[in-house]
Amino acid sequence: MTSNDGATLDFRSDTVTRPDETMRRAMASAEVADNVIDVDPTIRALEERAAAVLGMPAALWTPSGTMANLIALSVHLQRGDRFLAPKGAHVLNNELGTAAWLAGGMPEPLEHDAGPGRPTPETLSAAIGARGGPYYALRTTLLCLENTHNAAGGAVTPPHEHAQLLSTARQAGLRVHLDGARIWHAATALGLPPAALTVGVDTVSACFSKGLGAPVGSVVAGSVNFVERARRMRQMLGGGVRQGGILAAAGLVALDRIADLEQDHEKSRRLAAGLVELGWEVNAPETNILLARVADISVTLESLRALGVLALPMAGKVRFITHRDLSLDDIDEALRRIKAGGHP
Ligand SMILES: *Cc1c(COP(=O)(O)O)cnc(C)c1O
Repeated sequence: MTSNDGATLDFRSDTVTRPDETMRRAMASAEVADNVIDVDPTIRALEERAAAVLGMPAALWTPSGTMANLIALSVHLQRGDRFLAPKGAHVLNNELGTAAWLAGGMPEPLEHDAGPGRPTPETLSAAIGARGGPYYALRTTLLCLENTHNAAGGAVTPPHEHAQLLSTARQAGLRVHLDGARIWHAATALGLPPAALTVGVDTVSACFSKGLGAPVGSVVAGSVNFVERARRMRQMLGGGVRQGGILAAAGLVALDRIADLEQDHEKSRRLAAGLVELGWEVNAPETNILLARVADISVTLESLRALGVLALPMAGKVRFITHRDLSLDDIDEALRRIKAGGHP
């Protein structure tokens, strides 16, 4: 018997976490002002701190990571442009095509031939192709990287590969945006500060609501000039909030918790090892995301649900994500239930 007998164990995402007492107190007592008319001091404080953590000159708070990416792509792209992103990237598959129909860029996926989530510089080079071309040719102007790569199973791009991709993109005159929704997880896995993974990019987005426990909030960072343009774009998208310091206060607490992510990575390794023992086919998790190959995804998800274990389909597999609201005991409890329930 454990304290979790009967409780639902939610592995659907690291966004299911609920703000704890410390975070709620910080939110309740946040100093605030109207951030659309001028500046909310707590939003300002979070933007400055996030910019520093990400190694960028400036940052802009946004309600979601999806809006952060859309703002960056809208600033970078013009109609008639093409952008490149690793296959399965969030900007390609999970943002309803807004990169195309709002930001105006033609998407082109890159194969993961260097490893999960990671194209080689050769693949990037080939996709960029020759410069110029006739007036009716698309102009390839942007590379959009993703670290960690969600659909590839929380896969980490190490700094030396990042640098090679950056230099290939730069030589061809491309801008580079990094979707760093879970850059905290990549940095933790590598034992590096997040800023080590943004070297050379024009812009980076990151989420306080992914694993760090905030209920809402992301950031998009870049040059001072970029952030000025991004603020106008955020307003166009309806993303200006008034006393947003209530929400930004959660982001400030979240940034204190990056080091805790190592525990979530340990939980995913434990879950992976346990599932392998039970005969499952799972990837070796690099961070807090685990992908399991199963015969029939919906059958597996249903039988898991009947056991009180929630997961989601992702990239043709079953995705489990560990997070701060699941303990190591919860991992063991999930494994006990799956064992008792028989092989799904
Ligand atoms: C979750 C996620 C986003 C979007 O963040 P939301 O805050 O859910 O809009 C963007 N990119 C990646 C890689 C993600 O995992």
